[in-house]
Amino acid sequence: MKLTMQHLAIIGITLLLPCNIGCRPLRKNANHKKTKSSLSYDLKKAPIDKDTHPVVILGGGVSGLNAATRLGMVNYKPLVVQGPIPGGLLTQSHSVRNWPGEIDIDGKSLTDKMYAQAKNAGTIFSSASVTAVDFSCWPYRITLDDGPTPKTISALSVIIAMGTTPNYLNVPGEKTFFGKGVSTCAVCDGDLYRDQTVAIVGGGDAAITEAAYLAKLAKKVYVLVRKDHLRAQDKRKDEVLAKKNVEVLFSTAVKQVHGTDQEVTHLTLENTKTKEQRTLNTNALFLAIGSKPNSALFKGYLDLDAHGYIKIDSTPDHDITHYSPAQKTSLPGVYAIGDIADPHFKQADAAAGDGCKAALQANEFLEHLGFDPDSFEKRKMQTHRSIPEAKPAPAQKPQAVIVEVSSEQKLNELLKQTGMVTIVDLYANWCGPCRGMMPTLKKIATDYAGKVRVLKVNVDTVPSVKRTYSVRGIPRIIFYDATGKKVVDRTGALNYQGFSSELSKIIGS
Ligand code: NDP
Repeated sequence: MKLTMQHLAIIGITLLLPCNIGCRPLRKNANHKKTKSSLSYDLKKAPIDKDTHPVVILGGGVSGLNAATRLGMVNYKPLVVQGPIPGGLLTQSHSVRNWPGEIDIDGKSLTDKMYAQAKNAGTIFSSASVTAVDFSCWPYRITLDDGPTPKTISALSVIIAMGTTPNYLNVPGEKTFFGKGVSTCAVCDGDLYRDQTVAIVGGGDAAITEAAYLAKLAKKVYVLVRKDHLRAQDKRKDEVLAKKNVEVLFSTAVKQVHGTDQEVTHLTLENTKTKEQRTLNTNALFLAIGSKPNSALFKGYLDLDAHGYIKIDSTPDHDITHYSPAQKTSLPGVYAIGDIADPHFKQADAAAGDGCKAALQANEFLEHLGFDPDSFEKRKMQTHRSIPEAKPAPAQKPQAVIVEVSSEQKLNELLKQTGMVTIVDLYANWCGPCRGMMPTLKKIATDYAGKVRVLKVNVDTVPSVKRTYSVRGIPRIIFYDATGKKVVDRTGALNYQGFSSELSKIIGS
């Protein structure tokens, strides 16, 4: 399943940090265009330390990765904060047919190639998520959820590539059954409904893409469209909808999701014209009803449109760059790329193109400030050396425990060994959010070593756990306290704060 709930949680934590040490306040209110004519971006006087980066890219999807490669090529060592889904939403696409030079490639393979290319160019990757920004001073400050205590870094230039989060229907039962049949990602969860009946709600291109994927697995696929026509433009739509196991129900709204403790059983549907209601038996409901930009952190700093997309400023910035207009936001040196700034096209290749343009702009911006990669690194080193390194504590640290469990029997044996909090992670290799959560789990196992152990179970290599644990979505995360009692059982990835908050309830902080 996509990390949508987590995304929302992350976005909900919008701290506007006070401007204090480590950055120079801008002379005027940062969210107004006036700032551009009153730049106080003086690189010589700027406070630079070991956590200052020339360019920080927020988001590791195709747009962010392409920007990183371009900046890496000019020796900028950009930092990519990958967020909860490394590779972005494209990793959840099983078939990408509109990427230049590729006839048909799955999203994960495509983004893996781009990741390798960016890394090869010198990009630094962080698996953290952004929890706050402070763009009221420069270098811009960014707070990351990167361990037990949040970490604040700073950047001379920021490229925002944080994408969008799927919409929800907000009908009864949707939240209750989220992860137990309700999903926003067919590629993530579709395999759990092999030979079963599924429904997709939505009439756009995403609904057609989901239908194309699910039609290969499911016995029956219903596409529920609230209007009497589709919005989708995808050329495959006639071919997909003509499949024997696909049926479109037009003028149909989902009013409620029903089920048992563990799974979805049926939906209440309403004819939007006659208001007549009916029941549709289904094992899953996939939401494909559009998305919202993940821009809440930037409100007050950058101009957003009425729907929350970051506005791209088309006014040429001749004093800074000769490129125009290209991904500039209302703040100098801050660029927005991909879906977060694109209410219309939302195409992977367009997003990658945005990344290229933003990288060239950021390069121009930094050159305008007199930035030089070598002298910047020297300055960082000097600052670094002037602060004495903390001596490592001599005490022996307990070892992190992460066990890959090979059978259900082994899992049961391990669960009987109590005395420590246990986190069981039911995952699969094809699940992007599961992969994205792995660095966080490693960090949790390390930071809570001696108190918490992690047992990982691949639901494909240990398929019996799907039945035993009634798995209807992954990652499924189950917490057991030190006595072996199950205390939390949830579906959907968690970030570091999410794990810490559950653990502090179980073992105290
Ligand atoms: P869209 O906004 O294009 O479509 C959303 C669909 O969901 C519409 O049919 C809309 O209905 C319906 N909808 C919205 N809210 C509700 C609701 N509450 N109840 C029922 N139905 C609802 O979103 P997509 O995610 O499909 O696509 C977004 C963009 O990404 C588009 O530009 C698309 O072209 C692109 N895209 C391209 C793909 C490709 O090239 N293969 C794949 C996926 C996306 P209504 O029409 O009545 O408003």
